[in-house]
Amino acid sequence: MILGLLKEQSNENRVALLPEIVQSLSDLKVEVWVEQDAGANALATDADYENAGAKVVSRKEVFEKSDVLLQIQSPVAEDIKKIAKNQVWISAFNPLWDTELVKTFLEKGITTFSLDSIPRTTRAQAMDILSSMATVAGYKAVLEAAIKLPTFFPMFMTAAGTIRPANVLILGAGVAGLQGIATARKLGAQVQVFDVRSAVKEEVMSLGGKFVEVEGATEDKEAGGYAVEQTEEYKKKQQQAVNDHAAKANVIICTAQIPGKKAPVLISKETVETMKPGSVIIDLAASTGGNCELTENDKTIEHKGVTIVGESNYPSQMPVDASRMFGKNVLNFLKLIIGEEGALNLNFEDDIVKGTCITNKGEIYNERVKSVIENK
Ligand code: NAD
Repeated sequence: MILGLLKEQSNENRVALLPEIVQSLSDLKVEVWVEQDAGANALATDADYENAGAKVVSRKEVFEKSDVLLQIQSPVAEDIKKIAKNQVWISAFNPLWDTELVKTFLEKGITTFSLDSIPRTTRAQAMDILSSMATVAGYKAVLEAAIKLPTFFPMFMTAAGTIRPANVLILGAGVAGLQGIATARKLGAQVQVFDVRSAVKEEVMSLGGKFVEVEGATEDKEAGGYAVEQTEEYKKKQQQAVNDHAAKANVIICTAQIPGKKAPVLISKETVETMKPGSVIIDLAASTGGNCELTENDKTIEHKGVTIVGESNYPSQMPVDASRMFGKNVLNFLKLIIGEEGALNLNFEDDIVKGTCITNKGEIYNERVKSVIENK
């Protein structure tokens, strides 16, 4: 088969595969056709792709000749028109959130896989692009906070006096949150952490964070390591606890999410107003509404001296390693759908293939996406 690697259309510096992955695909007898300049922003030149065995062609040729089309972001409207029924589309298009796009794919009868729907199971770990990208985001979020903060992160004892370490509050200890804790600790900050899943307490503590418990959280062991919606009573109690800690924090890193839902609002406008001027909130959940009431997606604002950053694509700011991790995850996934002699082999008996498939032959295959669309 021919795998077509597209250049990203939106504001995106990453590329779905770096040249280093092309050789592994050639070994599986897959031809890789790369759109001109696809890797330029991730510092991979057309010559690098050619040297690795790929064919560099125009965008038009990639669309016309590929059996499988691959990019990171959702397709733009213009591109959806170009995808043929016999082609397979692979990207990360957030189907639990962008249900309109799922309906479009359904109507057009296109076979699609969304890499952000790979189940969070042990076998799928090596394909989990969400974990890879959240690792980049958690790291970058803390670095950005450190740069914006008018005070130090570590404690310093100098001849000019003692500088106290920064207090960092992390909301949500999933992949991004845990990376945030590790990075903030490495920079010498004191870290306090909120999460609704008690299972993460030990991990938080092993990274040197202090886990703040709010009693009465709803947990669901069947939710595959994800959080579930909380009761109104719990939400009020948690907002109060966050409010008490926010007043002492220099930095808040927001990472709380429930997949497919609007991000839980944990920081109200009033809470921001209790924070010290110069404090920084980095809201990683900005694209789904934000954990802070005042967050604006893809904007940095200031409210009464507090900076609130709503950057929704940190991985694009670290395109080389982010593309490297993304590409390795993609390769591991592709191995599941590449059969003998490099032919496409879609085995829907495999839970990872079925769970990642969003639409096929006019049907929704991913059960969670199906239930979200049916209940809308
Ligand atoms: P994750 O699901 O692994 O972690 C989210 C954590 O939030 C979970 O541990 C969950 O239990 C916790 N949580 C849910 N509700 C909560 C609540 N009310 N209070 C406290 N904790 C709560 O997700 P992740 O992969 O770590 O991603 C975190 C967020 O970062 C997501 O919103 C994701 O979209 C975003 N993200 C942003 C960027 C960026 O560049 N801005 C990049 C990658 C991911």
